Amino acid sequence: MACDPDRLSCIAGDAQALTPRQRELIARIAALGPRFAARAAGHDRDASFPAENFAELRAAGLLALCVPEAAGGLGADFPTYMLVAAELGRWCGSTALAFNMHCCPMLWAGLAADQLSMDDAQRAEHQRIRALHQRRIVDDGLLYAQPFSEGGPASAGSAPWGTVARRVDGGYRIHGKKIFASLAGAADRYAMLCTLEPPGAATGGTRRDALYIAVPADAPGVRVVGDWDALGMRATVSRDLCFDDVFVPDDARLLPEGLYFDAVARFPYMVATLTATYLGIAQAAYDFTTRYLRAELPGMPPVKRRMYPTKQADVAEMRIRLETMRALFLQTAREARFDPDRDARQRLFAAHYTVMEGSNELCRLAIRTCGGQSVLKSWPLERLYRDSRCGSLMLPWTAELCIDRLGRDCLYDDGEGDEAIES
Ligand SMILES: Cc1cc2nc3c(=O)[nH]c(=O)nc-3n(C[C@H](O)[C@H](O)[C@H](O)COP(=O)(O)OP(=O)(O)OC[C@H]3O[C@@H](n4cnc5c(N)ncnc54)[C@H](O)[C@@H]3O)c2cc1C
Repeated sequence: MACDPDRLSCIAGDAQALTPRQRELIARIAALGPRFAARAAGHDRDASFPAENFAELRAAGLLALCVPEAAGGLGADFPTYMLVAAELGRWCGSTALAFNMHCCPMLWAGLAADQLSMDDAQRAEHQRIRALHQRRIVDDGLLYAQPFSEGGPASAGSAPWGTVARRVDGGYRIHGKKIFASLAGAADRYAMLCTLEPPGAATGGTRRDALYIAVPADAPGVRVVGDWDALGMRATVSRDLCFDDVFVPDDARLLPEGLYFDAVARFPYMVATLTATYLGIAQAAYDFTTRYLRAELPGMPPVKRRMYPTKQADVAEMRIRLETMRALFLQTAREARFDPDRDARQRLFAAHYTVMEGSNELCRLAIRTCGGQSVLKSWPLERLYRDSRCGSLMLPWTAELCIDRLGRDCLYDDGEGDEAIES
């Protein structure tokens, strides 16, 4: 279904609040969007990767969205990335989620790394290696994926990664398995987390020994395994990956050894990059509903449904939910900073929960409001509903874990236990 761009509101709500650069980058996505939307049903049906969409993103320079301008990229800062990614989510949820996995390695190695403490030698080495990754994206158009999840407690952040790296001459040997790897089989590099075994130690490493490294997809020992036949986000092709004693050179690192732990603790906004996709999906469901009730969609009979007061009330409720999500999303994207204080941290959990749960709730309301015909596969709404269901399942901040962590954070000071309260 192609949307008429004239009737679409800005993903940021208030377009006046955007910088000229943000406006221009969002417009680049909006220009590609109708073609992505037209392909979405086929890729959803076949659970196939939207390679044509990524070819068009590459041709438009957008694979280098988060590479600094000095390195030949588009130089998006954090809020700009979030807005552009949300606009992409409005046209194709799977493409936006996969694009998020591609962009995150450059954000971690770029604006996140710039804030981390490193000595001069470490910083110089990081900048040298980072430039190699940036060139691969800018000059060679390589596609990165970000397979972190393993199906155990590490994915929730409560244990070290089960995938391990052992130091060897000139690099590392990596062994383990990742699940739900979006872009499996399509990416050129798998930017993954593993636990670096401390040399000579009797026991394995801790969470502080996490190593963030981009494994070449064609390295001997890398295998894509298993099926991908999921409820939603089917075009992400998130199959499993096995790493069987894979040699990876030093210059594949995305962060210096031991610094990922600090990066995610000090800049938790990176986890929330996932929400951009789901805000975009919510916007798409709202846009569909208003156009459906106005009988404006191509191919539908000219039967308007907007005159019923219940429809008007439903759409009002959807708009209120959408504006609530958007307000929190924008607030946290724009205030993203290193070492957020307690208040900002709690707001981030609240924003994440609100968007991830709210996106699916908005799609549910959209289906109820539009009625039976809207669940037909000839319309996008049932796909939006299924895709949006995946958001609050995504670790490390599922809806449950957001509630757990936010509730605890609201009631306990850092390091405080109940004994301290009772004494
Ligand atoms: C479409 C899609 C694409 C994805 N793409 C990627 C990707 O590219 N890269 C990637 O790394 N991951 C990706 N994921 C994986 C995702 O983040 C989860 O890791 C994945 O859904 C696996 O979840 P699980 O059922 O194994 O979770 P489990 O670990 O079995 O957890 C199940 C539930 O239990 C709760 N829970 C888990 N741990 C705790 C705890 N310590 N305390 C309290 N409650 C807890 C959580 O609410 C969780 O939802 C993707 C997932 C989906 C659905």
